[in-house]
Amino acid sequence: MYGGIKGVETMEIRILGTGGFSNDGSFYNCFTIDKHLLVETPPDILQSLHACSIQIEEIETILISHFHGDHCFGLPFLLFNMFIKRGSSLPSQSRLRLIAPPGVRDWMKKLLGLAISPDHPYIEWVLSTFEIIEIEENRRYELPQGLWLEFSPTHHNPLTFSILAGKNGDSSPTFIATSDTRWGPAIERLVQRGAKLLLCDSGGSKPGEVHMSPDEIRQYIIPKLPEDSRILGTHYAGRRISEGRLEYAKAGDLFLI
Ligand SMILES: [Zn+2]
Ligand SMILES: [Zn+2]
Repeated sequence: MYGGIKGVETMEIRILGTGGFSNDGSFYNCFTIDKHLLVETPPDILQSLHACSIQIEEIETILISHFHGDHCFGLPFLLFNMFIKRGSSLPSQSRLRLIAPPGVRDWMKKLLGLAISPDHPYIEWVLSTFEIIEIEENRRYELPQGLWLEFSPTHHNPLTFSILAGKNGDSSPTFIATSDTRWGPAIERLVQRGAKLLLCDSGGSKPGEVHMSPDEIRQYIIPKLPEDSRILGTHYAGRRISEGRLEYAKAGDLFLI
């Protein structure tokens, strides 16, 4: 466990996994914010939740940064198991929401149908139960638990959003996740927003690749970060060793910020 001052309201970030498409067997990249907000639903989402002792009943908001399979192909399994528990242990209908890029409703119908069959009742249950929210750039979304979210597009195809999370009453974000991206001006602007913790795509091996490389993070991001900010690499394969200010997230890490 890291950071956090007793008595001061904190935000809790739990890393469930760090792997991407290119994967050596690590849990896929995924994390929670304050337990109720799940970011990404990769193929092994039920396994990584279980490994961190998180019950699906604790999740009220599901957030997907983009529609690549390493970020969302576990959605049918998660939603199916929520469907099984409906009406008993799940949060009330008014609290369940899914936030994802534009087109999410049609995309989800297809994915959920492919996973079982297009007429399975869990699909209708999901579509009628969840508040489905399409991400809009530069709009602030207030969650009922005292948290706000903002999003900005990254340099990645398909449309992908970085995530900024702050506590109600704070104008600056406490936490930023770049999501999948190469280095570019959108990420430079994002870093300028400042945050206590920055979770950063670090999947590239050299500058200019689809994912940012550790060298780019050291060269372009770290010099612009306030001294008391921490930076964590994620979305990587193989073993990475923290060096200087660039640390690497690991499944199970918990950060109180
Ligand atoms: Zn990815
Ligand atoms: Zn991606």
